[in-house]
Amino acid sequence: MNELARRRVLVIEDEPRYVCLLTLNFEGEGAVVRAAGSAAEARAVLAEWSPDLIILDLGLPDEDGLALCQQLRGQSSAPIVIVTARGATPDRVRGLDLGADDYVTKPFAPEELLARARAVWRRASSPAAPSRFESGELVVDLASGQVTLAGNPLALTPTEYRLLELFVQHAGQLLTPEEILRRVWGPAYEGASYLVRLYVSRLRAKLGRAAPWIETKPGIGYRWRSECPLPRRSGETLSDGGAI
Ligand code: CA
Repeated sequence: MNELARRRVLVIEDEPRYVCLLTLNFEGEGAVVRAAGSAAEARAVLAEWSPDLIILDLGLPDEDGLALCQQLRGQSSAPIVIVTARGATPDRVRGLDLGADDYVTKPFAPEELLARARAVWRRASSPAAPSRFESGELVVDLASGQVTLAGNPLALTPTEYRLLELFVQHAGQLLTPEEILRRVWGPAYEGASYLVRLYVSRLRAKLGRAAPWIETKPGIGYRWRSECPLPRRSGETLSDGGAI
């Protein structure tokens, strides 16, 4: 199976011949490609489209690609492959430190770039992630689907659990409502962002207000805080996980 088929790939690159080369190669794998020739264009595309993979050139006309890389990492959970003429080790290390998933130096063989793109996509979509997530008094066992809060089992509906699972697997990353809809409900629910608002508020109610794990970025999306910001006070009532 071709992992890149139907994946949405954003190519951020200003040199037409590379845009052409990358577009042809990714489209040849069945991917849907959109290109942006500057950081500003990339932001405009990301405001209305959530890619599964981002190819980022560091030498952009309007901004340094490394700064953009850092910003993209905070906005999108899509893996980022840096493609650049800068092959010096400090640049590679900085790019990886700023959240890029891989780094390819120009000139490159298209087959190598596609192989790396498939590899980062595989890592991103089936992460060898820890099967147990803990934050403060919340424990999510991703293998068994059991959730406990302060030692008490938390009853979640299947949709609430999938939403919680998505958040904890992307702790610290900003998720747009579109991305959440696509991953939790599937592509058929495109545009139904009221579902995300509804389920985030149900999940918040069940998790309890004393531990605001889910942060809202108005107009952008939601982020699961990597660290539990406030400890629960003892004696606080836990949601019984009852009828919705
Ligand atoms: Ca360039």
